Parts: sequence; structure tokens; C-alpha cells
Amino acid sequence: MSKLGNNTKNDKVKSRLLDDEPVGRTVQVVRVQGDGAFRQRLLEMGFVRGARVTVIKNAPLQDPVEYMIMGSHISLRHSEAAQVEITDKDAEFCDMEDAFNGVVETEVAGLDPMADNVLRVVLIGNPNCGKTSLFNNATGAREKVGNYGGVTVDSKEGWFNIDGHKVQLVDLPGTYSLTDYSPEEMYVRTYIRDNHPDAILNIVDAGNLERNLYLTTQLMDMNIPMVVALNMWDELEKSGDKLDIEMMGRLLGARMVPLTAYNGHGVKDVLQATMDAINESEQETLHHNVNYGQLIEDCLKELGEMCPTLDRYTVLKIIENDQHAIELLNSQDNAEEVKKTAADMRQSIERDFNNDIVSIITDLKYGFVRGALAEALTPNPDRATDDTKPGYSMDRLLTNRWLALPCLLVLMWLMFEATFTLGAYPQEWIENGIGWIGEWIGGTMPDGILKDLIVDGIIGGVGGVLVFLPQILILFFFISLLEDSGYMARAAFIVDRIMHRVGLHGKSFIPYLIGFGCGVPAIMATRTLENRRDRLVTILTVPFMSCSARLPAYLLLVAAFFTANQGLILMSIYLIGILVAGLTAIIMSKTFLKHDKTQFVMELPPYRKPTARNAIIHMWSKGKQYLQKMATIILAASIIVWALGYFPRHDGQTPQEQIENSYMGQMGKAIEPLVEPLGFNWQMGVSVLTGAAAKEIVVSTMGVLYTGEADADEESASLKEKLQTATKPNGEHVFDPIVAYSFMLFILLYFPCIAALVAIKREAGTKWMIFEIFYTTGVAWLVSFIFYHVARLI
Ligand code: GDP
Ligand code: MG
Repeated sequence: MSKLGNNTKNDKVKSRLLDDEPVGRTVQVVRVQGDGAFRQRLLEMGFVRGARVTVIKNAPLQDPVEYMIMGSHISLRHSEAAQVEITDKDAEFCDMEDAFNGVVETEVAGLDPMADNVLRVVLIGNPNCGKTSLFNNATGAREKVGNYGGVTVDSKEGWFNIDGHKVQLVDLPGTYSLTDYSPEEMYVRTYIRDNHPDAILNIVDAGNLERNLYLTTQLMDMNIPMVVALNMWDELEKSGDKLDIEMMGRLLGARMVPLTAYNGHGVKDVLQATMDAINESEQETLHHNVNYGQLIEDCLKELGEMCPTLDRYTVLKIIENDQHAIELLNSQDNAEEVKKTAADMRQSIERDFNNDIVSIITDLKYGFVRGALAEALTPNPDRATDDTKPGYSMDRLLTNRWLALPCLLVLMWLMFEATFTLGAYPQEWIENGIGWIGEWIGGTMPDGILKDLIVDGIIGGVGGVLVFLPQILILFFFISLLEDSGYMARAAFIVDRIMHRVGLHGKSFIPYLIGFGCGVPAIMATRTLENRRDRLVTILTVPFMSCSARLPAYLLLVAAFFTANQGLILMSIYLIGILVAGLTAIIMSKTFLKHDKTQFVMELPPYRKPTARNAIIHMWSKGKQYLQKMATIILAASIIVWALGYFPRHDGQTPQEQIENSYMGQMGKAIEPLVEPLGFNWQMGVSVLTGAAAKEIVVSTMGVLYTGEADADEESASLKEKLQTATKPNGEHVFDPIVAYSFMLFILLYFPCIAALVAIKREAGTKWMIFEIFYTTGVAWLVSFIFYHVARLI
């Protein structure tokens, strides 16, 4: 019987809150208060009884705080640290290692791995433990590698060959545990249940076994053949720690193989061991599980007999009162009886251990891991401390109280400039090239609809797609460097306090920033957010960041209608965009996209040297993704918008008459009553409609409608004059500063361009794309309406 169960010293210990501890102090965890998802996540991250935590530093804005626990660095907000009760680091109140009871064995019947005609191996492990590196190495696939939790969000599939078999390898999202508190965990859990993998390849960070093996204890209970790959073996060897693999494997009852995934050392052995495990599973085998001590083992046995179809993992989850596990019972006749028995068991276990069930099980699992490590791992007494690790001196600068924000801004500025200024060169070449091809075809083809379709519709449309490509490539090259180096998590740490105000996580900062350049890569960049809710809120609010395509319209209107304070007026537009995004995020977080609290426990991975190879792989895969999946739709949509402005045709029309009489022109006139309350006329309505294809087109449409010149831009004096002198039928000026500002507000806020919408559809789904169309246009209308009428009153 575990001593933990009878441990009542716990109640006598005097505890205080982690939040009040000064930087540099090391303390011991007594317990985590509260309940629910957040608490569970903290426990799983290692905040269990007796664990030592060191306060590393405050973020530059004083919140959140960096802590070190079980060798990993974790960021917690003050409000969250205030839920952790701690005591002095040498207080004696807990004998964790004694919770080690070894393993129990379960007989597992032989299987036929080829029953479903594929051999399937799933790759499971904590974020950043090297899953994707192993996946790339084993399958030769070009998969994104990131030093940042949750880069892999969907599963990726590849194949490797061994012993004449073709084996499917699936890269699942990184998780710390297999509860149901995050969509990623749920995804992994249901994936295993629904796809019956033939083996689990559990990859762990050998330098951080205590935390990594927690997940292993859960996987062990699933009774699926498993191999544990001890990755980062190079780092473990360098640290001087000694791990007795053979003993460790025996204690845990699992196959263990050392691995250095990023250079491929040990990949073959790992795959071979996996294949051996699959082969062995054809016979009846003894599977090893964590021994939770007599009381719990008796309960597991009794309940397991009542639910013969469920695995040990699920049975334990039922005792833990896990809703998803309990749902699995419903197909069973004796569901009610099982639930009642489980509830009784839970009560008696909680009484015996004098603790709640979630803590008891987590404590026991960690106790098991620690007990095994105490036997098998000999830490190097002179092991390098944190301050001598590479990256530490850099970290002191990068997260320094005064220098962190300037450093962040400089880095962001560099990335932004590279993307949008450097990117402008290839962009111009592409534009020129496309223009040249268009002219060439224009010169050789006879006039007619076909020529116009090819030159203006298709080639113009392809051009509209290709111009984004250089920006996407450059941007993702930089993002990959930021992620792989570990800086991305620090950037989130630095700005978290600001983003928290609107209910978001620090990580949303980067997509927002990119949004000022272009919404398409910004929306693609939300993939770096591991939490789906945050990702959705960010995707839906990014279009309010005024992208560079809208700038020409502002420049034209500001130059034409404002003589003083032009810069301030322009800036006010950008600020209003930020404000609307912030308010939208707050409203969404308070209503239909409520917080999921687990997200705030963020790991700060060690700094690692990024490699150009990874960055190029990442850049290329993003570029390919863009061209394959999005370009087709963007192209089709551009052709439709072109056709709406081109048809119906009448001979002898000026370009001005042509667009006025086109379907687009008719639509513009039809919506005139809708935009009239904003101070707009039908020409502005048409411009807004054509701007749906791309926001740059707003200005060129105005050019056609007001001057008859197709190539008018924001600098053409004639367009500016025409706008200044345009009059309504009743003789009043069409534009004045109020109308112009109202129009700018509308352009800022309405309908994101088609390319951005396609990106939203891809990342969030059709439902949210449609929502976004109505939401942004609705907000634009409302804001312009209020502005127009209030300004008229003043
Ligand atoms: P994932 O999040 O589990 O998919 O992990 P990744 O494959 O993205 O790797 C995270 C980081 O660890 C990257 O910077 C890799 O270059 C690095 N890495 C992966 N395997 C090893 C290894 O064996 N040794 C060392 N030192 N670094 C590794
Ligand atoms: Mg990955």
C-alpha cells in the first residue's frame, strides 16, 4: 500500500501561495486549489505534492511569471500562481518515491495487426519533444518542425518500409496528457480509440523524463504495444546524466530506445523496435501497467470485469469521473450499475487517501515515474545549471525588463520590413512579368471576349494570386526561425499582459502584426496558436488590422479632402481598426467563444539553434499549401468579379459607361439605398463591391468611374480633382471630409478580400467565413453610419 494514502502530514504543513514568492526562491508544492481544467493541467505539468518550483523571473510587464518545475520552464499568470499552495523547499511532508509500487501485468490476447490491411503506428509525445523531426526522418516527408507547442495541429501521415512491410506513421499533435481538457488531447484520445493503431511510438525528451513519462503512464494503460523513444539523447549525454536504459525499461515494462531525431541517430532502431513490438503482439502478451496500490487495483479489477470491452485506461477514467469515459458506458446494459459502483469506489478511495481523486491519480503516476527514475537515473552532480546553458545570456537581454519590448519591436520590425519591403521586389517582378505576358498575348490575339477573358480575367487573376507568394515565403521563413529558436514563446510571454486584456493569449500578437501587411499570411500564421478558441478569435479579428492593400484608398481620400493633420487622420484609421478588433475579441470571449483556461500554462522551450533546412522546408510547405489549396479559389473568384464588371457588353461604350451598365454597376446602383445613409453614392457602392476581389481595386474602380481612366491611382491629380468637384444631381458636392472619413472607415472594416476569406474558410471552416462576411460588413455599416450622423450633428 502506498504511504501516500496514509499521509496526513500534509494537513499540518503551513502553506502559502506561490504568487507571493520572490524571484530566485525555490519552494515545494503542497497542493493546487480549485478544480476543473486548469487545476488538472497544472497537476499534469508537474505541480504535484512535493515538486520543487523555482521562481525564475517576471515578464517585463510584470505578468506573467516564469517558473521552473521538473526541469522545464513554464509561464503562469499571477492570478494562476495564486492557486498554488507551497511551502519551504526543505519542509518534510511528503514521501513521493514511496508511491512506487512497480507494475502490474495484464494479459492481452493476440491480435492480427494486418486485420485492417495496414500497419499503423502513431507518434505521441509532449510538444517539442521531437515528434516531427522523427516523422520527417523516418518517412522522408517534408514536415514542419517547430520548437513551439502545437505547431502540429492536425495529424500528418507518412510511410516507412521495414522488414518488407509498408508501415503508416501518423504524427499526432503534441500533448502533455490524455485527458479531455484541450481539443488536441481529445483529438489524440479519440484518434487512438477510433483507429486502433497497431503500436504507439511514444517519444519522450530524455533530458526531461519526469514530466515526459507522465504521458507514458497513461499510454501504458491503453494496452497497445508501445515503444518509448528516448529522444534528445545527444543532450542527455552532454549533460553528463547517466540513464540505465535496460533497468528503466524493466521498471516501466516498456521497450526503450535512445534516439537523436534531428540528425537521425537511432531512427532505424526505433522503427525496428516498433516492428518487433507489433510482431510480438500477434501472440498473447503480458502488458505492463502502473501499479496504483492494492485499493485502487482491486477497484480496477472489479470494475474492469463489469465492462469487459473497455481498456484499463478508460476504466480508470470512469473511476475518476471523466465524462468522456462515462459516455462510452452508455452502450452498455449495466451502465447505471457501473456508474454507481464507480462513484462508491471514488468515495472510498478519496476517503482513504484524504485527497481528491484527480490529485490522487496524478500523484501516484508521478510517484511511479519518480520511483523509477530514482533507480535508473544518476544525475551528474556537476550538471550545468541554467545560467551556463546556451541561450541564457541572450535570454537575459531578450526578456529584460526594459529591453524586452524594444528588442521585440526591432525583431518584429525586421520581419515586417523583410516581408513587405523586400517582398515588394519579387512582387514587382511578378507583376511586370504578368503584365508582359498579358501584353504579349494581347498583341497576338484578335480582339474579343476571349482575349479580354484571358488577359484581364485569367492572367489578371493569376497575377492577383502570385503577388502574395513572395510575402508568404519570406514571412514563413522568419516565423520558422522564431519558432525553432524558442523566441516565439518568449514573444508571447512578453506581450501576454497586453493581449490578456482582450481575452487572448500573447501568441496572438504575431498574426495581428502580420495583418497590417496582409491578412492572408496573418490568418495562415494563426496555426501557431495551439488553442482552437484563441485561433478562431484571432482569425476573425485579424481582418480589422488595416492591411497594406487598403492604404492607397486612404492616401487618395486623405490627400483630396484633408489639408491639415493628414498623418494623424491616417493613424486614427489604423487605431480604430485595432480598437474594433479588441472590442470584437472581448465580446467574443465573453459570449459565444468563452475561455478555455488550460491554455495559459505555456511552456517556454529551451533556446535552440534554428536550422536553415527546417526554415526552408517550412517556407516551402506553406508556399505549396497556398498555391494548391487557396490559389484555385482565389483565381476563380477573381474571374467572377472580372466577369461581373465586364458583362453585359454593348458596342461603343466608354469604359465609364461600360462599368456603369455592367452587372457590377447594376449591383452598385441596387445597393445605393443601403449605402446612402452612410453618405455614399452608387459609384462608391460599386467601388466597394469590386474591392471584394482585392482592396487595391477600390481606387482603380473609382478611377474608371470618375475619370474614365483605367489606370488611375492614388497619386493621379485628375482623380483627386474629380473627386473634389464631383457633384450630386442636386448640385451638392458628393464628397466632403465627413463623407471621405466615413468611406475610409467603411473600407477599413468591411468584407475582407476574397483571398482573406478563402484563408478563413481553410483555417476555420465555411460557417465562420460566412459569419465573418456578415459581421465585418455589419460592423462597417454601423460604424460609418454612427460616424456620419454624429459628425453631421456637430
Ligand atoms: P515536436 O513539437 O514534438 O514535433 O518537435 P520538433 O520535431 O518540432 O522538435 C522541436 C525542437 O527540438 C526542434 O528545434 C528540433 O530541431 C529539436 N530536436 C529534435 N530532436 C532533437 C534531438 O534529438 N536532439 C536535439 N538536441 N534537438 C532535437
Ligand atoms: Mg510537431
